[in-house]
Parts: sequence; structure tokens; C-alpha cells
Amino acid sequence: MLGATPAGLIYSQQEQPYFAPVMCDRRAAFVQADPRATALHTNGKPAMQRPKICVVGASNIDLISYAPRLPKLGETIPGTRFQMGFGGKGANQAVMAAKLGGDVAIVTKVGQDIFGEDTRKNFAKYGIDTTYAFTAADSFTGVAPIWVEESSGNNAIIVALGANDLLSPADVGQARPALEAAQVVVCQWELQLDTALAALRIARAAGVMTIFNPAPARSSLPDEAYTLSDIFCPNESETELLTGMPVATIDEAAAAGRECLARGAGNVILTLGERGSLLVTHEQIAHVPAPQVRAVDTTGAGDAFVGSLAYFLAAGRTLTSAVERANRIAAVSVQAPGTQSSFPDVADLPSELLAG
Ligand code: ADP
Repeated sequence: MLGATPAGLIYSQQEQPYFAPVMCDRRAAFVQADPRATALHTNGKPAMQRPKICVVGASNIDLISYAPRLPKLGETIPGTRFQMGFGGKGANQAVMAAKLGGDVAIVTKVGQDIFGEDTRKNFAKYGIDTTYAFTAADSFTGVAPIWVEESSGNNAIIVALGANDLLSPADVGQARPALEAAQVVVCQWELQLDTALAALRIARAAGVMTIFNPAPARSSLPDEAYTLSDIFCPNESETELLTGMPVATIDEAAAAGRECLARGAGNVILTLGERGSLLVTHEQIAHVPAPQVRAVDTTGAGDAFVGSLAYFLAAGRTLTSAVERANRIAAVSVQAPGTQSSFPDVADLPSELLAG
């Protein structure tokens, strides 16, 4: 049922029917007979048993050292614990979509080193196609050495993107078959912007649905990144930096979302942490509150959300339905520690979340 939230926004929890898109006019493709429904095309291909997703993005290795306090400059202190984890926004989103059952291809670049080998093995573990996981002979696999102060949970991080920075528009061009075969192409901003734009352009030209997650946050983004995004999906800080507008209330977030639409995005989904997410389209504004959970580690929540969103859209769900489902899966992820390790397995999810 539709209803007005305290913020005066329309929120529908009801499953919306899928409306066939009009392929000749992209704006028209999002204008539905039912104004509550926002259906997107999936490259003119029927939703198949295994939705096809192509993720263009970074792969990093997190190297997490824990100590009672952070060292001062020049100081060496004993640590209590060390943990290595697979990360990088592209890798995380690919793993989330694959864990849900997606047929996922990754376009990424690693170094010719042990971390690059481990990264490939990790993709293989989830059945992710690494045909276009390139190797840079002259760089290193992206790493994020992280220091965590145990008493406070505060951290200090250096992200050295290494080979990720060398993933080029030409590499993406080589990966064209994977991009064109997908129902949904996803990319983030943890790459050279030209590389992300090249991927979005190829997908757009092939009529493949595009999701752009402008993360990590930066302040200026060319209009083309908006116009090439069927779905533009920033978090709170990214939205504030990009639009210069506050998102402290849902009404403010809606205004910032409308600004992203005005810049050319087809549809906007703002992720709002524990407040859930906000869908802003030309037809509707819908606040999807997050399930109330006890969060233990929110690292990677945005990647769980975007990877799930890509999966559900590739599976032919409406935008409203995909957002509601992604919201629920991201809420599961914040209840476990780590990034990829916190992403739920299908077996741990209620069956109605995947079926129906
Ligand atoms: P990011 O990790 O990029 O900062 P967010 O913090 O906005 O992204 O989180 C992404 C999504 O994860 C949210 O839209 C929400 O669905 C879910 N989420 C995040 N934090 C919580 C929380 N404390 N409780 C429930 N869900 C959460």
C-alpha cells in the first residue's frame, strides 16, 4: 500500500509489476503506466535463471593490524592481532552479486604478485569469471594497510591502489564482450574516472543497464557520469560532497537526489546508513527504512547494497523491489564482522527474499 511517511514521502512496500521498457527513448523507458512502478530494461534479454552482471572496479587486499593504540610517527609498537581480507569496491560488489547466484564477470587489474594470485583465487572461489582480470607487469596489487586502535576502534588507513589505477579505457574496451553480454554493468570511482566512463559508455551503447556508485567520495564529477547512469547510487557523504547539499533529513536527501536527477541521472538511490535508502526517480520518491538490527561492523555495507541491487535488477526485479531487497541484505551484512566475510550466503537468507 502507498502511504505518506512523516517526511511526506511516498513509500510502497508492495511488489511492483514489471513493465516492458521503451527501448528507443531512455527517459521514456522509465515512464511507467503506473507512476509508482519504476521498471528498467535488462538489455532486452529476458531475465534468465542466472542473472548476468559485469562489475568494473578495484580489487584490494586489506591488511588489518590491531594494537592497543596507534603508533606515533617513527615508533614501533607490538600488535595484538593481524587479519587479511579481500576488498576493493569492485571485488566486493562482484562477490555479493555472485553469492546471491549471479553469473558475474569482473573487469579489474592486479599486480604480478602473491596478492594478485590470491585475489584471482578468491574470485574463483565464488565462480566469478576472471577472463578480464588483467595483470599489470609494472605495478602491484592494490593494498589497504589498516591500523586499528583496539581501545577505541579508531583506525588509520593507507589505500595504495597500484594496478587498479592502471586499469585503462583500452582494457575496458577489451572486456567489451563481458560488458555487452551482461544485463547490468556496475562500476565505482575507485578507478580512473576515464576508465569508469568508458565502461558506462560501452554498456549504454549496448542498451545494458548501468549502475554507477560514485565511491569513494570526491567533490566534482562531470555531467556525463550522471547521464550515463541509469542508476546513480551514492552514500550520504558522497551525496553531500557531490551536490554540496545536506542529507541530514529525508527531505534534504530527497532534494539532493533530485539534484542528481537534474544533472542527468536516470534514477537515483541514496544509501543512508541505518536510515536505509532513498529512491528518487522522475516518478516517485520512496524512503525504504533499514531493518532495525544490532550493527557490529558496517564496513562494506554499501558494497553489499550495490552488489545485491545489481543482482536483483539483473534478475528482472523492479527498481522498488530491488532496493527493498538490497536494503535487507545490506542490513544482514552489518551484523557480522569484516567485509566480504559479512556478506550473507543464500542459505542464510529467508527464501522469500530471493524468490517471488
Ligand atoms: P556505505 O557503506 O557506502 O557508507 P551506507 O552506510 O549508506 O553505505 O550503507 C549501505 C546500506 O547498508 C544502507 O542503505 C542500509 O541498507 C544498510 N545499512 C547500513 N548501516 C546499517 C545499520 N546500522 N542498520 C541496518 N542497515 C544498515
